[in-house]
Amino acid sequence: MTQRVVTLAHYYTQPEIQQMADKVGDSLELSLFAREAEADIIVFAGVRFMAETAKILNPNATVILPDAGSTCSLVTQTDVGALKAWRESYPDHVHVSYINSSAEHKALSDWIVTSRNVDDIIGHLYEQGQKVIFSPDRNMGAYLNYQYGYDMPLWSAVCEVHDKFNEAALNEALGAVNGEAYLIAHPESPLPVLKRADYVGSTSGMLNWVKQFSGNPEAVIFVATEDGILYNMGLARPDLDLRQAPIYAGCQCNSCPYMKMNTIEAVKRAQQGIGLEIDYLTPAQMDAARVPIERMLDFSQRYYA
Ligand code: SF4
Repeated sequence: MTQRVVTLAHYYTQPEIQQMADKVGDSLELSLFAREAEADIIVFAGVRFMAETAKILNPNATVILPDAGSTCSLVTQTDVGALKAWRESYPDHVHVSYINSSAEHKALSDWIVTSRNVDDIIGHLYEQGQKVIFSPDRNMGAYLNYQYGYDMPLWSAVCEVHDKFNEAALNEALGAVNGEAYLIAHPESPLPVLKRADYVGSTSGMLNWVKQFSGNPEAVIFVATEDGILYNMGLARPDLDLRQAPIYAGCQCNSCPYMKMNTIEAVKRAQQGIGLEIDYLTPAQMDAARVPIERMLDFSQRYYA
């Protein structure tokens, strides 16, 4: 019998990979799609924590990551034993974790969030009078504390891609523009960059901001996130001058090495069932990690319905 193969691709993969996919999206969109996918094989052109999330949400499917090396610095910078001790040192706090975390990490969490729903979920918890700790992204947590006046204790890991954006290079680039310039940024970027931004939001949020832009068509729009999304933005608004934010003077060259391991050859092989199969999570690990993910998905479906 022919196997049903569904290919998912994150916005940060190369355009050619996105063209091979049944669904392109950010973490939240792909998680929801994976949960409902009627597939024997899910090929996840993204990074390992995303493929793990797909497996947790759709355990009957075979989930294949095209390249076993596709990790994420937010995962590799987090020692799960140390995280457990940190979490236990705040017994009266709710532990909110960004989806960019391993399955073991998720199992130590009360809520999972994505960059799209993090503001709303943490706001909801504070409205209920809860105390919150946030992991693993230090930059995102610092931004939330700054933006909303929270005092969340933060775990200290960063996205090695977004953490490279810096205020000095941005100021130089913005200052070199003759005319209007805007900056939109992903909350994994450092706080001084986020404070300069005209809009801070998730990958999909930034894409929507660009789609709906109705300002001066001559303006330069700098985008502080992984370079893959520039492709989708350019397709949506070819009339705009969209540029990736610099990471140092003259270099608009910030891309995620793990996402770019999803080559055409690797994705084609994965569609034949060859790659890293996510088969190492125990049922108990998946059950524990599923609870905070489902909590987020249910919240999102109610909140954004
Ligand atoms: S862009 Fe950053 S957060 Fe996303 S997968 Fe790469 S290292 Fe991880």
